[in-house]
Amino acid sequence: MSDVQRRLSAPSDPRGRLVSIFVGAVLLPSVALSVLSFHAVPKYAENLKISLLKQADKVLYYLERDLERAARTKALEAARAVGPEKLLEGRARVISAALDEAGMGEKVFDTLRLEASSPATKLSAALGRGADDILVLREALKAFDPAPGPEGEDSVPLTAADGNMAGILRFRFACPYVHNALLHEFFESDFVNPEKDWVVRVTEPTGEVLYENAPTPDDRFEVKRVMTAPSFHGLKLYLRYKDRSIEDEVHRLELAKNTLIGFIDLMLLAGLYLVYVNVRREVHLSRLKSDFVANVSHELKTPLALIRLFAETLELGRVQTEEKARQYYRVINKESQRLTQLINNILDFSRIEADRKEYRFAPTDVARIVEEVLEAYRFPIEQQNFTLEVEVAEDLPEIEVDAEAISQALINLVNNALKYSREERYIRLRVRREGERILISVTDRGIGVAKADQKKIFEKFYRAENSLLHETKGSGLGLALVQHIMEAHGGTVEVESTPGKGSTFTLFLPLRKRSGGA
Ligand code: ADP
Repeated sequence: MSDVQRRLSAPSDPRGRLVSIFVGAVLLPSVALSVLSFHAVPKYAENLKISLLKQADKVLYYLERDLERAARTKALEAARAVGPEKLLEGRARVISAALDEAGMGEKVFDTLRLEASSPATKLSAALGRGADDILVLREALKAFDPAPGPEGEDSVPLTAADGNMAGILRFRFACPYVHNALLHEFFESDFVNPEKDWVVRVTEPTGEVLYENAPTPDDRFEVKRVMTAPSFHGLKLYLRYKDRSIEDEVHRLELAKNTLIGFIDLMLLAGLYLVYVNVRREVHLSRLKSDFVANVSHELKTPLALIRLFAETLELGRVQTEEKARQYYRVINKESQRLTQLINNILDFSRIEADRKEYRFAPTDVARIVEEVLEAYRFPIEQQNFTLEVEVAEDLPEIEVDAEAISQALINLVNNALKYSREERYIRLRVRREGERILISVTDRGIGVAKADQKKIFEKFYRAENSLLHETKGSGLGLALVQHIMEAHGGTVEVESTPGKGSTFTLFLPLRKRSGGA
């Protein structure tokens, strides 16, 4: 059965419950959401493409309308320059000459004429006196000018000076004028392209380019429109983005969206992982705490039971020999020492947790601390048949430490060496100077610490998962305290150990304390 399955099927296990909650309440909905989001992206891209193409189409539509409007405005300008009389006469040569005279050039229109939109009487009212004569003249001269071509004409209502409608102006611009003047004029002055990101191309029906407002990287345009107004008949309008295509744009956005979803998923996974690690740590810590309570109760109960038993025996005078009595006193002494050490550790630990632990630094001879600890522990060491080796370097300088804290750290190390030794009962204590540090090391030939545990043993409540450990009770606080004490002194504690062979714990104390810690 896989690990996850096993955890899912064991809801009473807090880790299994944790995994079930993550998978059911967070991971599955998140995965479902990302799958849906990933699926929605192509649809979004398609819609985006359609709307961008529609937008481009609209731009071309308005462009065509604006171009036609510009042509009508131009025609009205020309008509006003020529004057309604000549227009009504309708003689091309006369009109061309009048246009030339007005500075517009002769070859502007194929046709330009005014058509009365109402009966002659109405027109005469609009034009004023002499209108009838003009109409008669126009009829007479009609024979001299060619009729308008079959391509048709554009038209625009022409109003007279008094605001009344004079008639319908019919016109068709001449091709060369449209190609060489009108288009350029329009694109240079009337075309609205504020961000300069549209490229427009106008071609002849044959494909020959007449105008282009900017060079294109390739000849691909997004949308095309064939113009229908007679002046522009058959001309083709093309439109594209200046330096990107709609296809590229859609791809870019699609990629950006997918990347964003991927990134959110990654963040979610990272968040989940962090939450999982934290909750797992909390679960682990609470398990360690409950182990701690059990261990400490046991640690307290055993020495207390022994002290009571021996004290009662002594009190009742049941001890026959002096030697036996002394042995009982020693046991009472040793057990009460253990109790004191345990209670000291717990009290110190609670002070550290509450940030109330204070250190009193004073110039101290470290060798003396070591001697005092040895003095107190010599008896249990010898009594448990340990071989003791002590090496204290001569002429060690005095250093600023909290003597009580350092001796407590050392006691913890010596205690552990005693606790975690089996057949080979050996302890070596070394104090030496190395550069700007004083090193105090405690070596044993006990059970050792596995590599994976060597960091963790300094964490509060941590006790290595060793089969031999069950026999040895402890609070899991000793080394955490040692580490805290060393940090407060600006030093460190390190372990070198080989499982089954033994360990060396070394306290590194700087000669000069750097900062803080008091
Ligand atoms: P305790 O001894 O009360 O369990 P400590 O914090 O002093 O707590 O030690 C933490 C753990 O480190 C111990 O449970 C033990 O597994 C390991 N340990 C400490 N000292 C030694 C040693 N000298 N030899 C082997 N293991 C040790």
